[in-house]
Amino acid sequence: MRCILLILDGLGDRGHPGFDGQTPLMCAPTPNLDRLAALGMTGLYHPWLQGMALPSEIAHFLMFGYEAAEFPGRGYIEALGENIPLSDRDVALLGRIFAVQQKKGELIVEVEDPKVEPAICLELQTAIQTFHWEGVEVAFVPTGGIRGIVIVKGDVSSEITDSNPIYAGRPLMEVLPWETAPNLETARRTAQALNRYTIWCHQQLSGHPLNKARVRQGLPSLNAVGMQRAGRYRTVMPFGDKWGFKSLAIAAGPIYRGLSQYLGLEILPVKDTNRPETDLRERLELAYTAKNYDFIYVHTKAPDEAAHTKDPLIKRDVITALDEVLGFAVREIAADPETLLVITADHSTNSAGHMIHSGESVPLLMVGQYPRRDRVIQFDEVSCAQGALGLVRGGELMWLILNFLDRGKLVGLMDSPRDQPFFPGNYRALKVK
Ligand SMILES: [Zn+2]
Repeated sequence: MRCILLILDGLGDRGHPGFDGQTPLMCAPTPNLDRLAALGMTGLYHPWLQGMALPSEIAHFLMFGYEAAEFPGRGYIEALGENIPLSDRDVALLGRIFAVQQKKGELIVEVEDPKVEPAICLELQTAIQTFHWEGVEVAFVPTGGIRGIVIVKGDVSSEITDSNPIYAGRPLMEVLPWETAPNLETARRTAQALNRYTIWCHQQLSGHPLNKARVRQGLPSLNAVGMQRAGRYRTVMPFGDKWGFKSLAIAAGPIYRGLSQYLGLEILPVKDTNRPETDLRERLELAYTAKNYDFIYVHTKAPDEAAHTKDPLIKRDVITALDEVLGFAVREIAADPETLLVITADHSTNSAGHMIHSGESVPLLMVGQYPRRDRVIQFDEVSCAQGALGLVRGGELMWLILNFLDRGKLVGLMDSPRDQPFFPGNYRALKVK
């Protein structure tokens, strides 16, 4: 048996005032998801603790059964996903260029997510590509549009705070060492190098002819760099060793590819088009035909992106469109006794309120030979709360998958030197000659 895990990114949501306290998923007609809920066992899921708002990369990492303290930082994961060469010592941060206004010696963010032609972004980013300060080298590597990865080389630390305050109207923040940094002096010097880089970028970009032309046209000057979520390589147990699975990832987007690469899942390259439902249908078909794998992770970003518009109607409609292609999952995947189909989300993305993501649990369903069929016949945040799985948290999801694939080990058996959760383990036969 094998598992297909479908992640509908950011599917969960809050009760929306405009929907009489219901969520976009509750308001969307979803006959196929409802059919799958009726066929299987349902519940709610949160990758960590209820109420905690998680970004996708940490939510996925926890969902795959790892601990938050093991996480190497999003900057590192995204750099991997963008195929940026890094040494194990390099620190990587998410970077972007945006518009600030200088007021009383501070750089106040005017537009954090400006819509600008890629060619203009690239030309501006070229002006801030390399910077040196006392043995520390900083490089801005463009990754499309305003975005890039900032790579820091030298005797540096990833235990540093962000400079990007995310919300317009707030000042760029001074980068500081974490209180808990094991080598405080190195973290302080890394922070100092990035603060100097930020000031240098502001000077370079403010004087750039392209920005001067933009100001003449009444457009905001893209005159600053914001950075966040520093990361650096750290050792990790490969996913295959941890769970005993030969695994495949079918996901677009650099953080999903980067995380899969980091954990050692094989990657089937796919691209997002402007038809997410067609993309999802194609990914499910690819997953269904990938019979040589024990665990296939399929991802769509569409519900999360719809929620970020803060328009619950857009999210509702995207969910409806995605559900239409899940007829394939009902007809083929759920009908196959050798496949365990698991559908959930990594986190809630709220289409109401100011938070970037929100901390509510998300619906979960499991269809296969062994999950108990409960009485839930609708797939949403409230219906699934009545499901027989109850509230599933963190790495429990992987333990349940192992269990329903009939591969879990009886706790206490030791058939290999490492106490792994799957059975049989990587045992060695006794040789008699
Ligand atoms: Zn996500």
